[in-house]
Amino acid sequence: MLGNRWGADDASKGKPAGETHIFVTHYHWDHIQGLPFFAPLYVENNEFHFYSFRSKFLGRDSLRQVFETQMAQPYFPVDFSAMSAKRNFRELEGGESFFVGANRITARYLNHPQGCLGFRIETPAGTIVYATDNEPGDPALELSLHELAAAADIFVNDAQFTPAQLATEKKGWGHSSWKEGVKVARAAGAKTLVLFHHDPDSSDRRVNGLLREAREEFASVYAASEGMVITLGAPGQPAQAHLPGSRTATRREAQFRAVVTGVTSEGRRFQEETTVRDLALQGALIALKHSPKLQSELEVVMETPGSNGVREMRLRGYVVRLEVGAEGGTTGVGVVFTD
Ligand SMILES: [Zn+2]
Ligand SMILES: [Zn+2]
Repeated sequence: MLGNRWGADDASKGKPAGETHIFVTHYHWDHIQGLPFFAPLYVENNEFHFYSFRSKFLGRDSLRQVFETQMAQPYFPVDFSAMSAKRNFRELEGGESFFVGANRITARYLNHPQGCLGFRIETPAGTIVYATDNEPGDPALELSLHELAAAADIFVNDAQFTPAQLATEKKGWGHSSWKEGVKVARAAGAKTLVLFHHDPDSSDRRVNGLLREAREEFASVYAASEGMVITLGAPGQPAQAHLPGSRTATRREAQFRAVVTGVTSEGRRFQEETTVRDLALQGALIALKHSPKLQSELEVVMETPGSNGVREMRLRGYVVRLEVGAEGGTTGVGVVFTD
């Protein structure tokens, strides 16, 4: 879970407990149900600043009330007071802008049942926009979304439904599609679009299909996945993604011989034999002599030892990260497997 990973990272770096700012978009279950299970909230020296809005259904101190209700008996074994971290709550208005350190935060309302805030975070390294849970169709709130996304380096947008679903049976559910995301990204001049808030009924394969369609219409698109970290590129450089979880969780230490097929940044096809050392369920870091195109598709055919001798494993994925390889003259290629 995020909280455990977060805590483990801090401990391993020997960092003192610090202040953390958490932006809560709205109070639907899928956005709040992890709160009581977030381990760093039970560590005394941690301090949290929560931002959200005053819901007309809850009134004053809406987010604090949400916490208290979630932890009331018999829903949770300990009550709100067991959370020993210091917690501060701030209610925001749509259109409000303020600074957290060197970062300027802007909150705007989005079109979603019972309200939802989108956040624009302008950092010294670039601008990130988090616009989950919104549906096109309300001109004033659509304008808010465009203003939030203006020239953003990373624009995270709701992509729950297919364009066909959004036009028909899912109209009015408060969500959007990859096609709407591309439309807003293009009009607002956003550089990288991240498809987010996948439908719980979408398989990984289906999300991958939506991603492929989006890539045909927009140069830089990622589909968010659990644990994915996206790094802002240096000015003029593209954003890159990676899955730090793959370095710890289910990592396999063994080495596998593999044949990798893909497309170079110049658009030429290549095939290359290599050894895969860093392999996990969701992805791998592979050393290649070729430099594949960022976000292009890659096929990895590996020979893995099993109980019935050597077995061939065929995986497809896409390139999310390029770094200088550990071995001279190679590129470290981060891949997310899609099937
Ligand atoms: Zn919602
Ligand atoms: Zn939601």
